[in-house]
Order: sequence, then structure tokens, then C-alpha cells
Amino acid sequence: MGQNNTSSPISSSTSPSATDTACVHGRGPEKKPYDAVPTPIVLSATYTFANTAELRDHFEGRVDREEYGRYGNPTVRAAEKTLAALEGAGDAALFGSGMAAITTSLFAMLKAGDHVVMTSDCYRRTRQFVEKTLARFGVVSTLVPPGDLDALGSAIVPGKTRVVFTETPTNPYLRVADIPAVVAVAKKHRGVKVLVDATFATPVNLRALSHGADLVLHAGTKYLGGHNDLLAGAVCGDDGLVSAIRDARSVLGGILDPHAAYLLERGMKTLGLRVGRQNETGLRIARFLEAHPGVRQVHYPGLASHPDHALATRLLAGFGGVVTFRVNSDLEGTSRFIDACRLATIAPSLGGVETLIEQPALMSYYELSTEERLALGIPEDLVRLAVGVESAADIEADLDRALRETIP
Ligand SMILES: *Cc1c(COP(=O)(O)O)cnc(C)c1O
Repeated sequence: MGQNNTSSPISSSTSPSATDTACVHGRGPEKKPYDAVPTPIVLSATYTFANTAELRDHFEGRVDREEYGRYGNPTVRAAEKTLAALEGAGDAALFGSGMAAITTSLFAMLKAGDHVVMTSDCYRRTRQFVEKTLARFGVVSTLVPPGDLDALGSAIVPGKTRVVFTETPTNPYLRVADIPAVVAVAKKHRGVKVLVDATFATPVNLRALSHGADLVLHAGTKYLGGHNDLLAGAVCGDDGLVSAIRDARSVLGGILDPHAAYLLERGMKTLGLRVGRQNETGLRIARFLEAHPGVRQVHYPGLASHPDHALATRLLAGFGGVVTFRVNSDLEGTSRFIDACRLATIAPSLGGVETLIEQPALMSYYELSTEERLALGIPEDLVRLAVGVESAADIEADLDRALRETIP
């Protein structure tokens, strides 16, 4: 990118090459301090004004500059611009965690008496926030099953519903939301905004805004950061909505630390490369597992056996790096299989360079009985694998050996 080239090199195309360029140059051509190549980490809680005239210029909007750390930071801003370019959004705002992005956005958009419609397989903590926390502030909600557009349509209360919140693909069954159809149903009513948590999709596999969503949210902790070394959250959308959410962030205080913002921008530079690889490995491992005698069932949107396969093929550029499957065993046998994996290590989370594995019955649903877990659709033989960027052949060999050693 030339110094005198003031226009952004990013085209609006969603082709992989344009995405890869946006990953590296999305922050824009602005010259960096000391002619540094990467964005410097600016550690300043507050910013000096030369005189009170400069202060007046700032508050009267004649200059665009920093003021105080809770209102903005140049390192955070660079990462926000990169993500906005990747999502094709007018603007993006970053937060200290995915949950901070979700809770701040919803607090900014809702008031007592409003109603939220949410798909029932959204992230557990998001549901908890909507059903429990927002309820204490007089916001009511209705959960609808994923993929049921009729239920979605009838759940909307004209004049009351302000937000339709969905997620895609979801955990652990990787259900894919028909975003254009959800938008069509929601937009029959005035004043309804569609929010999409696209953490599992990433902007590499889905540009939800181009399908009519109003806001896209991410746990930057997962693929965007990509190295299991930071927590971050993001919201992307048009300038007006994001600016209102940024104002709420200034009040609620869930900002991203500049160190984490640096790591996030650095992580996003390889997002296209990493997610491209994770898409390929995810599909290969899903096919391998589906053909394996030790495996009962595989849930992966890239397989013809998945209920949303056609939808995923139409809407997603790749099927992602998470593969969920059931082994031919019980709670204990499934644990023995997971313990026998050497390359895949046990941890919650996904989207990083390291392959992680978990048994949902023991992780998010530990305190429940077998019956209670089954009622929630979580059998004890369920395994969630989140592939990293290691050799796909090595991941496959590790799973194959562990299955043969532990599943008779
Ligand atoms: C992890 C996750 C979150 C929460 O992100 P944190 O950074 O852990 O707060 C929200 N939504 C989805 C889909 C997630 O996977």
C-alpha cells in the first residue's frame, strides 16, 4: 500500500483474496507513529491538551482526537477498523469479552417494556442475560426453536419486539440460521433489529450484514484472536447503531485493553489463512469420523447428513472448524476416549490454533443428571472437537488411535 494512496485497498468483494487483504490492511492506510509497520500499543489512560482552546475544539467536534481511555484508544481503534473492513460494516466497537459486547449492545438497544425474540440454542450466557438479567429490568423475551421461521414470526409482538437475536452456527449442533429469511420475517415489523452472533462463522465464512442483519457480534476470544491468549468481544454495523453502543460502552465500561487489542489485530491478520485451513480440516475430520466404526453420529454442516447442509452450502463460504460427534460408548467410555487423545487437549473454547476437545456432559452440564442432560439434548457420549491449524493428518491419526484404544 503506497504512502500517498489515501483510499482503502479493500474491495467490497467477498472473494478470499479481498478478505485476506482486509485481514492485513483493514485498519486503513493511516501513517503509524515512528513509521512502525504494525500498529503500536498505546498505553495511555488519558491524553493531554496543549491548551483550553484545543479542549474546546475537541468538545465542539472540530478535531478528531483521543480524550480519555474509557472513550477510546488508538490501538483499539485500529483493530475496530480492521474488523469493520472484514464485515463490510460502517463501524465496529470492541469490548473486553464477547459477553461484554452482547450485554452492552442489548442494554444500549432496550428499555423496560420491550420484547426480545431469541433462538433457543444461543450461547448459554447470552440466554441467561436475556432471560434473567434483562427480565429484572422489565424486558421480556421469547425463545423460539432454531430453524422455525413460523415460530419466529408468531413470537414477534408488533410495537413491542425490538430485537431478534440469533446465532450461527450454534453450539454444539452447529445449526445454521437462514439469516435472509430471519431478516425477511423480522422486517415485516417496524423497529425490529436483527442481531447475529457470528462467532462460529467469522467474517471469512459469513457476512451477515450483507444478508440484511443490523448488527453482527463476535466473541473475539475465539477465531478473531485465534491463539487462545486473549478475551475480546465485538459488534459491527452501521455508524449510528454502533455509535449508540459505543456510548453505552463509555458508561458501562467494558472496554478492551490496548495489549489485547494489539493481539487481536495481530490475530486477525491471519484470520483468512487460519479459517481457510480450519474449514478444510473440519470437513476432512467430519468425513473421517462419519466413516469410523467407533462413532455413532457426526454433526457438521458440511455433511449431507446435517439438517442445515443445503442452507450452509448456500450461505457459508466454509463450514468451520468445530465438529461435534457421538462415540459408541457411555459417559465413562467417552471420557476414556477424550483422555486418550494426545494432540487434542481438553479445554472449553474454540477457534484457536490449538485443537481442543471437550465432553459437553462434563463441561457446561456437569451439575445435571443423565435425564436432565438428555432433556436438553446433551447425551453423555457427545464430544465437541474444535480443530486448530495442526496437520489434518496428525489430528485424524490422533483421533483414530484414541478411538481404537478406547471404543471396543
Ligand atoms: C465464547 C462465546 C461467547 C462469549 O464470549 P466471551 O469472550 O467468552 O465472553 C459468546 N457467543 C458465542 C457463540 C461464544 O462461543
